[in-house]
Amino acid sequence: MDTKTAQRLDGKALAERIQTELKQRIQVLQPEIGRPPGLAVVMVGDNPASAVYVRNKERACSKVGIASFGQHFPTETTQSELEQVIQALNQNEWVDGILVQLPLPNHLDAVSLLHQIAPDKDADGLHPINLGRLVRGEPGLRSCTPAGVMRLLQEYQIPLQGKQAVVVGRSILVGKPQALMLLEADATVTIAHSRSHDLSAITKNADILIAAVGRPELIQADMVKPGAVVVDVGMNRVTDSEGNSRLVGDVQFNSVQGVAQSITPVPGGIGPMTVAMLLENTMSSYLRQHSDVPKAP
Ligand code: NAP
Repeated sequence: MDTKTAQRLDGKALAERIQTELKQRIQVLQPEIGRPPGLAVVMVGDNPASAVYVRNKERACSKVGIASFGQHFPTETTQSELEQVIQALNQNEWVDGILVQLPLPNHLDAVSLLHQIAPDKDADGLHPINLGRLVRGEPGLRSCTPAGVMRLLQEYQIPLQGKQAVVVGRSILVGKPQALMLLEADATVTIAHSRSHDLSAITKNADILIAAVGRPELIQADMVKPGAVVVDVGMNRVTDSEGNSRLVGDVQFNSVQGVAQSITPVPGGIGPMTVAMLLENTMSSYLRQHSDVPKAP
């Protein structure tokens, strides 16, 4: 019997290495610049998953020496109060990156708020200016999760040029920017979504399959081409029959690892890479503000 198991693409290890490098660069740059890089994570309400993500981001900041200017507001905060917060952070010279943790409570207009973040402080790369730069192939702050996917693929020297890449999911947060980044890397890109017919026939074509769907274990072994590279962006909390809660991806890891050439685990794959890219975006805004200081190689 064939007991082949796919290579694991270890996002956690790479993210830790990126953080170590960032820490070393900040230690050198901070005395020259006179301040550390700064990131402001704005959170509204008490969504428990968001609270965990925010805590992880702030912990990662403190680990590498990025100052946190995070602010946590009660659910009933108004749009105009938040707009004032964003304006103040835009003006604050100690703040290089601003991130509004999504989702926001229903009465708030997240898109309008994201549009008010100064594009050069847009640590999440979601401002239309930065998305436009991505479409045009110009340098700019890139959306963290798809950028993390690209960095992980690059680390493992996965060839993309001319390959069939399939992205399942078309959100503005992941799927769309992911497809554009793969296109920029010369892959032939297909985007599938909830209205796509015969998803399995589409995913089976993929040399590189990226699942960003939000459906636990949607992608199963019989939907994957043998030898494909499978990247699981999904993070879904599920409760098993014994009432235990655990995190699963959009890919059924145990079955797919018998078919794929390489696969990312959940957790330990794209989650930590997303945080690492957020720190890198903050660092790149910091360096842009101080462009007279020598850059890292
Ligand atoms: P989203 O905004 O809900 O988008 C989901 C996408 O999947 C939509 O485009 C939807 O299609 C498509 N879809 C839903 N059901 C489908 C199905 N049965 N077949 C094919 N396509 C389907 O979610 P998101 O923000 O992109 O996030 C996706 C997943 O990634 C979630 O699990 C999220 O938690 C995770 N995530 C992880 C990280 C990280 O750091 N690792 C970061 C962000 C997100 P339609 O457009 O047609 O509705």
